[in-house]
Amino acid sequence: MTPEEEAIKERNAARLTERLDADPPPADCPVPMLPVAQLYLRDIPLLQPPGQADLLQVLWCPYDHDPHHKPATALFWRSAAEVVDILATPPEPYEVNDDGYLPEPCVLAPEAITEYPNSLDLSPQMLLMVQDWSRWQAAGADVDSSEHADCPRDFYDVHLADAPGWKVGGWPPWGRTDPNPRYCTVCDVQMVPLLTIASYEWDGGEGRSWAPHEEQAAAYAANTTGHCCGQDPSQPTKVEVGSTDNMQIYVCPASPGHPHTDLIQ
Ligand SMILES: [Zn+2]
Ligand SMILES: [Zn+2]
Repeated sequence: MTPEEEAIKERNAARLTERLDADPPPADCPVPMLPVAQLYLRDIPLLQPPGQADLLQVLWCPYDHDPHHKPATALFWRSAAEVVDILATPPEPYEVNDDGYLPEPCVLAPEAITEYPNSLDLSPQMLLMVQDWSRWQAAGADVDSSEHADCPRDFYDVHLADAPGWKVGGWPPWGRTDPNPRYCTVCDVQMVPLLTIASYEWDGGEGRSWAPHEEQAAAYAANTTGHCCGQDPSQPTKVEVGSTDNMQIYVCPASPGHPHTDLIQ
């Protein structure tokens, strides 16, 4: 560590001691929230900001909150032009419940992709088609050499359905539970996924086919060496939620003023 980093660490430790000496942690947990994602409309046209906003900032409290022991999230829609007086040295986070709740600073390189619903979200008729091996063959898909050759449904889920990793929009990554739609607490309409905060950008095995083209080599190398340069290439943010699951943030499509919710899957 540099002398400056040492000083910051010491100062943060002193602040934490001071805070704990002063009071036990209050029930509503007013610890500093941490930045989790900052998304610009110019990079991600899929965002649907309210009014003149063109910037989404997602923060969370890095402590487990009920229900389901997960960080409490907060969304801030802003107009980027109005964000001025930015701190040259933002405060260092010094309280987290879990190392996986402290994101590693990353620069985004968003990429538009096409994905399909999880097989659990398909209609019975569509599911029959997905499970029909001859259809895959007729379409020229390389199912035969896949590790999922005996189960076309798994082939579909691994290669085409709900892309793994951090994403805006898209389909829910079911798996911890059966499909579990979220409904707005104000107007009762079905909510839509806004952001998926993922523990891994891709899964092992054939799931590595989802790695960006420029990271394919690292993705496949990681399979034999475990980690590259001390960091797993499939975990650039070092964020882990649930049991290496996904946290999906849902919003009401009827009104950005209605409260968001989140779900671990
Ligand atoms: Zn909290
Ligand atoms: Zn609503």
